[in-house]
Amino acid sequence: MFVMQMILTGTGTSHGIPVIGCSCPRCSSSDEKDTRLRTSAFVQAKDGTSVVIDTGPEFRIQALKWRITRLDAVLLTHTHADHLHGLDDVRIFSHNCSRVQNEATLRPSLKVYANKVSIDEVKERFSYIFKPTQEGGGKPRLDLVSVEQFSSDHPLTIGSLSIIPIPMKHGELDTTGFLIEEEGFRIAYLTDCSYLQESSVSLVKGCSHAVLDGLRTRAHTTHLTFDQALEYASRIQAKKTWLTHICHDYSHEEINRYLAEKSENKFFIEASYDGLILNSSSS
Ligand SMILES: [Zn+2]
Ligand SMILES: [Zn+2]
Ligand SMILES: [Zn+2]
Repeated sequence: MFVMQMILTGTGTSHGIPVIGCSCPRCSSSDEKDTRLRTSAFVQAKDGTSVVIDTGPEFRIQALKWRITRLDAVLLTHTHADHLHGLDDVRIFSHNCSRVQNEATLRPSLKVYANKVSIDEVKERFSYIFKPTQEGGGKPRLDLVSVEQFSSDHPLTIGSLSIIPIPMKHGELDTTGFLIEEEGFRIAYLTDCSYLQESSVSLVKGCSHAVLDGLRTRAHTTHLTFDQALEYASRIQAKKTWLTHICHDYSHEEINRYLAEKSENKFFIEASYDGLILNSSSS
């Protein structure tokens, strides 16, 4: 591995695919690319620094499946349940008695980076974490840090990773995308958005990979449609654009045919899938 890599550990919309109780052709598909856990990603830097973007309800399953044994920080896009509700399971990475990181010294709390509105929400939703309780109770030790203090002039540095928060709109809600860079290799992770302001498009322009919200063809109040994602992709001009947060309206193959036709193969845009690895050799 030359520089960082990102594993897309989940690429499905809030229900995941298959949807509980649904027997549509996608939910009963035998193509493993049609099975999608809730949207999240895991980034591993050259020096071993490891961060996860979002801790959805399947964080534990994803961590086991992709053998996550180290975690230096959590980046949160926002606090909708499908992105947050596995947060408690990061406690294995924040305990000093943890077996996964054999460190003799006291480990600092695990840092969780999110925008201010998300931090307030985390404190409310996971209030038990921040209340003093007796020793021995299994709780993660978290240090919530607001991303508003970081920018392209002053990026967040975690190990060898340099990270710029990208402000986005998810309907009326402010969400955060992340531009993650190591040695000039840049991945933009932009899920749960329906609108990107021009300054945000400029920040990620020309990156190596863009992972972009792309729910379905029908309009939605808080997510990009495939056509809207195509429009943003043509402006962002990443070497490769991958759609995520996909719903069960179309199969993986059908989406890729649609995107190839609409983009007229002028630029690379495809549906992502669980387990897709983005690195410098795949760009
Ligand atoms: Zn979501
Ligand atoms: Zn279905
Ligand atoms: Zn959301």
